[in-house]
Amino acid sequence: MPKNFQSLPPSEPSFWVKRHLERADIVIVGGGLVGLLTSIRLKEKFPKREVWVLDQSPFLWSASWRNAGFACYGSAGELIDEARRSSRSQALELYRRRFEGLVSLREEFGDAALGFEASGGWELFQTEAEAQSVIQTLDEWNQDLKSVSGISPFQIRSSQSLGMRIASQAIFASQEGAIQSHLLLRSVRNKALSLGVECYEGQAVSHLEPTESQSWMLELESGLSLKARELVLCTNAYTRLLQEEVDLKPARGQILVTSAMPELPFRGIFHADQGYLYARTLGTRLLLGGGRNLDFAEEETLHSEENTAIRNHLLNYLKEVLVPGQEFSIQEQWSGIMAMGESREPIVKQSAPGFYLAVRMGGMGVALSSEVAQGVSRLLS
Ligand SMILES: Cc1cc2nc3c(=O)[nH]c(=O)nc-3n(C[C@H](O)[C@H](O)[C@H](O)COP(=O)(O)OP(=O)(O)OC[C@H]3O[C@@H](n4cnc5c(N)ncnc54)[C@H](O)[C@@H]3O)c2cc1C
Repeated sequence: MPKNFQSLPPSEPSFWVKRHLERADIVIVGGGLVGLLTSIRLKEKFPKREVWVLDQSPFLWSASWRNAGFACYGSAGELIDEARRSSRSQALELYRRRFEGLVSLREEFGDAALGFEASGGWELFQTEAEAQSVIQTLDEWNQDLKSVSGISPFQIRSSQSLGMRIASQAIFASQEGAIQSHLLLRSVRNKALSLGVECYEGQAVSHLEPTESQSWMLELESGLSLKARELVLCTNAYTRLLQEEVDLKPARGQILVTSAMPELPFRGIFHADQGYLYARTLGTRLLLGGGRNLDFAEEETLHSEENTAIRNHLLNYLKEVLVPGQEFSIQEQWSGIMAMGESREPIVKQSAPGFYLAVRMGGMGVALSSEVAQGVSRLLS
């Protein structure tokens, strides 16, 4: 008797499977948040077309299921970093895309369905000098962002009530909040299915090729192959396994979750170190992630192992800065893989006839996902 399914010999596809695989009009590769939202937008635009989503992994695996669940647009420190990396106008445009993306995600699915908590977000600083260097830029950012968010998004607040070992002033952004990632994914996937999108998990695409009849042939690792008139890659960090020339790099993100603490003097989401460190409350537990800037080279990987130096850095930040004097243990730990580029702009484009890319979602892909899906939908006719 075989011990599991993998030890069974592969079976030949049936007549019915082959006929089924001829039916897809639009195939989306990648069933994370971006792929699923894209499938919704395309099915709404082309209700008569067969829209399929293929994902290599079993259900519940992608970065969309492994993130920190921040509903954020970019702290002032991150905006400064982004403006340095690209330009001030690009940093402002990216903020607008994230802000409007989150607004439409919340409008489409409703706050209860996303587990949205309007907690506000804090930017924390280790030293007074670091705090002042960001605070002195706030008037200008607030002026430029008012037309996007309807208010001046950044307020200076005393950090005393937080009980952390940080600079005396912090920056509060009242419109930020937190979601529960599994609730968001469930809502999005259910909507896609209810519209008639077909989702197939456990189907890794290993090769893509244009055909003479102006469609695309996809080979799957299972040995099956299928044709699509139009093909959209929403494969984010894994894109270069299929299309080597795409300009992105994988970037691993580590996350730790503490045990419950007797009490926490704060709640909400927290950014530090230009966004490279992020924390949020989960009841009286704390989720802390990031630290990639400690070892960029090592974290440029598709592998999801622990990085001990980064784990220690996160642990130290918890003990020394966020909750000094509190007793806790680390109860959960995982990592996920993002996709980064020199610019934080996502890639949303047609790269060949019938072939589209929606990848490189950076560290705030939840916020961008909705706007990116709309962008793909505008490209297809
Ligand atoms: C640790 C961590 C914390 C984060 N925290 C936040 C946060 O708090 N807020 C926020 O806005 N963003 C956050 N992000 C970023 C956000 O999660 C991502 O930007 C977003 O989920 C990307 O969605 P996606 O659909 O593009 O990619 P993914 O969710 O990675 O989905 C891509 C899918 O493509 C599939 N795939 C790849 N190659 C193939 C192939 N050849 N064949 C078939 N399928 C394939 C993969 O299996 C995967 O399911 C975080 C990310 C990480 C890793």
